[in-house]
Amino acid sequence: MLLKLFFFSFLSICIRFGLCNLICRQCGHAVTNSAALKNVWSPHALYNYNMTILAKETMVQVFRNPADETFHVISVNGADLKFAGQSYHQDTWFPGLKWTTCVCSKCGHHMGWYFENDKDNFVGLVLEYVVSSHYADSILRVPAS
Ligand SMILES: [Zn+2]
Repeated sequence: MLLKLFFFSFLSICIRFGLCNLICRQCGHAVTNSAALKNVWSPHALYNYNMTILAKETMVQVFRNPADETFHVISVNGADLKFAGQSYHQDTWFPGLKWTTCVCSKCGHHMGWYFENDKDNFVGLVLEYVVSSHYADSILRVPAS
């Protein structure tokens, strides 16, 4: 009963304040939250579309890298990730910003890229690699009391 109450109060707080997390699809590590979502337009996107993510209208941009891989990417102000490798200026999707590959700080799965220059920085997260904590909670079953 207590567990159920906690579960529903967590959900209502989550929905009311929009502070749900995006978590790593592989391991469940909390990567970022709705307050960090930010739209950063790129002239190099193949196309973009809007999607409601954590109750926020968010721009998703579709990019193709030189290895011919396609990614659906959202931008966030901050994320709990680790850098993997060095920074590069070449083949950037955001003119003037260098990029560094980012991986989940818990399981090491590729999550996206950190883009930065002297004036700005943000993380481009691959949409397919995260899932909302709200969704994850919705598939958990609470035992009947
Ligand atoms: Zn992970």
